[in-house]
Amino acid sequence: MSTIIRNGRIIGASEDYIADIFVEGEKISAIGKNLQVAADHEINAEGLLVFPGGIDPHVHLDMPFMGTFSSDNYETGTRAALYGGTTMVIDFVLQTQGKSLASALQEWRGRSDGNCVGDYSFHVAVTDFNEHTKSEIRDLIEKEGITSFKTFMAYKGALMIDDRQMIGLMQEVKKHGGLVTVHATNGDMIDYLIAKFRAEGKLSPLYHYLSQPEVTESEATGRFADLAAYTGVNAYVVHMTCEGALNQIRRIGSENKFVHAETCIQYLMLDASLYERDFEGAKWVMSPPLREKKDQSALWAGIQQGAVQVVATDHCPFKWEQKLMGEKDFSKIPNGHPAIEHRMELLYSEGVAKGRISLQKFVEVNSTNAAKIFGMFPQKGIIAVGSDADIVLFDPNEKHVISASSHHMNVDYSAYEGVEVTGKVKTVFLRGKVAIHNNEVRVGKGYGRFVRRNPSKN
Ligand SMILES: [Zn+2]
Repeated sequence: MSTIIRNGRIIGASEDYIADIFVEGEKISAIGKNLQVAADHEINAEGLLVFPGGIDPHVHLDMPFMGTFSSDNYETGTRAALYGGTTMVIDFVLQTQGKSLASALQEWRGRSDGNCVGDYSFHVAVTDFNEHTKSEIRDLIEKEGITSFKTFMAYKGALMIDDRQMIGLMQEVKKHGGLVTVHATNGDMIDYLIAKFRAEGKLSPLYHYLSQPEVTESEATGRFADLAAYTGVNAYVVHMTCEGALNQIRRIGSENKFVHAETCIQYLMLDASLYERDFEGAKWVMSPPLREKKDQSALWAGIQQGAVQVVATDHCPFKWEQKLMGEKDFSKIPNGHPAIEHRMELLYSEGVAKGRISLQKFVEVNSTNAAKIFGMFPQKGIIAVGSDADIVLFDPNEKHVISASSHHMNVDYSAYEGVEVTGKVKTVFLRGKVAIHNNEVRVGKGYGRFVRRNPSKN
């Protein structure tokens, strides 16, 4: 099957031009002006922006948590992502302490494989680094195409590893060309503050926020960056929220070292005042929590400066009845919020339409950088001959309002209810097939494919 997309304005991390795109099978086979080709389908993209498919490298679908599961499974989550122009996600496999990485991967694949609508990959979270775990790293990179390993500096007793394990993991991952990512917050300090607030009877969602002050994140980010710089491993901080953590990334840069950083769309546009709404604040209980307005300004500056390379979501939705598990105790509120569907449109609206970032920067942080950092470029993240035909046709002027009544995520509230957005995804191609057209999904469960990733060469 072949399709010609005529006269769209093609935007890349360093491109802006009007041309036709010829898609054959799953790949882009030609790009040029007035292409003379015989195609099965023709689409007129005049007046539309043409972006490479969005990549959200931080989502949690069908994730077991506190006896329940995040409410989007692989089908509903990847489908909602497609509605919003995100053609690929990277989810997290979580090792159970005392068990192997392989058994965790097998468990996660049992939920994901055959169920995704959009393309997907996994990071593997190492929560117990020992001699056996160490022996599994190479196979994951070389045999499974899973090149990134998540670590937690918080959640002691469940997910957290100590610095000794961290160093060991970093050295092993470096040896095989992988990447270490981190949830960088000081777990001991947070545990202390949570216990203190609970003992004082301070149990509302506001105390979730107050138990994770900025210093818990900046301290851990700096420590992680120092350990990564010492080992020389390729390193990446997930969901960075605040100026203090960003300054640690800048500091390591000033020492001629480099650590990648990701922020999430919510940290760029929502702030901690939402926690003052009594229990309604539970909608935004996530870790790290929303921060202050000054942190939003810092993060936008970080994107401009290239210190922050990726805007993700940390999508981890829970329905309201699940959030109610913590009605009497903030520490029992399932952490996470729904955003997988809205990331790309919100980033365009808040970033490009409001004049904060250029179209090229938008494509970088929405797609291209994630593809490069996580070993999928140029298969993903770019509109180019030979690349997967993951293409978004986008109307930069259409306005719409976000609401739980119209979103496609499996969750009964919106964290962005009533937010007006400028710019709308019109048509989404995933590997050459029309996946979304005028708000209708055209591909089904099982179309999404697991993407094997490549280790870095240096
Ligand atoms: Zn996460």
